Amino acid sequence: MKKRRDFLRLSALSSLFLTRVAGARAAPVSGKAAGPVVISTWDHGVPANAAAWAVLSQNGRALDAVEAGVKVPEADPKVNSVGYGGLPDRDGRVTLDACIMDERGNCGSVAGLEHILHPVSVARRVMEDTPHVMLVGEGALAFALSKGFKKQNLLTPAAEKAWKEWLKTARYAPKINAENHDTIGMVALDAAGNLSGACTTSGLAYKMHGRVGDSPIIGAGLYVDNEVGAATATGLGEAVIRTVGSFLVVELMRQGKTPKEACRQAVERITKKFPAYRDIQIGFVALHKNGQYGAYALQPGFNYAVYSPTVPNQLTDAESWLK
Ligand code: ASP
Repeated sequence: MKKRRDFLRLSALSSLFLTRVAGARAAPVSGKAAGPVVISTWDHGVPANAAAWAVLSQNGRALDAVEAGVKVPEADPKVNSVGYGGLPDRDGRVTLDACIMDERGNCGSVAGLEHILHPVSVARRVMEDTPHVMLVGEGALAFALSKGFKKQNLLTPAAEKAWKEWLKTARYAPKINAENHDTIGMVALDAAGNLSGACTTSGLAYKMHGRVGDSPIIGAGLYVDNEVGAATATGLGEAVIRTVGSFLVVELMRQGKTPKEACRQAVERITKKFPAYRDIQIGFVALHKNGQYGAYALQPGFNYAVYSPTVPNQLTDAESWLK
């Protein structure tokens, strides 16, 4: 599988964001699936979809499918943007953001969670075992430990080496010089016709400690409305939060837009609201309740993986606003 890297350089001085995204493949950019379907962001969506498909193909619940799916990159030390092996913040700490949402509108989320391999499963426990939606930092960790999750070191030697390399030139303030990477967002429709979604990331590499992106923010990084559809986002979280991107995509589908057109209009909104849009990447994927799916990105290079009875877990290049 082709390896994908995004590099993002943030400069607070110039307010410029520069993204380079490698590679792109030609393939259809939207479709309609008969039966269950799972769709997820980036190359690591392929093995994640396979795990989700094991659930969906057995008539399992979309919620179980998306949790099982995104746990794959969370546990993969080679994926340097999610879970174990994720690049740390600028203090060398791997801090994880994740959320999950089901067909009933229930949702759970964790942000700035350290030392736990599967933040998405902690998010699910927040959803199912607490009266809250979101737990952060030390509170999220204490909750996870109380639920039997085990503490472990998530900073792999490779990620530590990359961070130490970055430290050689890093300037803490006002200039942030960060290497970006890619969230996994996944949405699925099960055989019963129900939708769920999950989103998990280690966030922007070398971010300020305490920074939270869009990925654990319900409505920004992920949104599911079982009457309409589901959407998830990847890219510069600050821009997605400002436009409540995934909620916007779902609401546009509610207004009758196709998933791809809804994603395109959400990207367009970002270009209007975020002046430095030329220098960032944003990608959305969306799945309609009727099985139709699509995606759209700001820059070329964003791809997503689709698995359905008619699409054999295929990577697809999204169309983009900037060519
Ligand atoms: N959306 C993620 C964040 O802002 C990063 C990414 O998807 O690349 O934390």
